Amino acid sequence: MRIGNGIDVHAFGPGDHVVVGGVRIAHSHGIVAHSDGDVAIHALCDAILGALALGDIGQHFPPSDARWCGADSRVFLRHCAALMREQGYALGNADISIVCEAPKIAPHAAAMRANLAADLACDAGRISVKATTSEKLGFTGRGEGIAAYAVVLLDKA
Ligand code: MG
Repeated sequence: MRIGNGIDVHAFGPGDHVVVGGVRIAHSHGIVAHSDGDVAIHALCDAILGALALGDIGQHFPPSDARWCGADSRVFLRHCAALMREQGYALGNADISIVCEAPKIAPHAAAMRANLAADLACDAGRISVKATTSEKLGFTGRGEGIAAYAVVLLDKA
């Protein structure tokens, strides 16, 4: 078995929606990012890459590369899933926590789990998506941005 963790943060900026776990959610702000700024997927990718000791998402998809401008982060996740299979591993489970005051994540958690499971070619029962506020403390509490934390367990296939 291999274990990995990943963390991602993005600032809110001008816009009318955010993308989290591959779900477009209407919001008073957008996300400042080179790609679509999907914190849940970025944290999950880093957790998988971490478990495989294959670096981080910035090394695989450099922000300096114009190819990834506005990219759908699900492309990154499917790439990480392929690397996982190449290394002979399958997802045991993933647990993702999203931190923000708004938008509300819970109503979209099932759709996020379905997206992530599809990209990882596994049952949605292996993927948990949770959300919390930070009680108005810190950058997430002030509504300046959104954060996500992910932990994965990979099993030798
Ligand atoms: Mg990111």
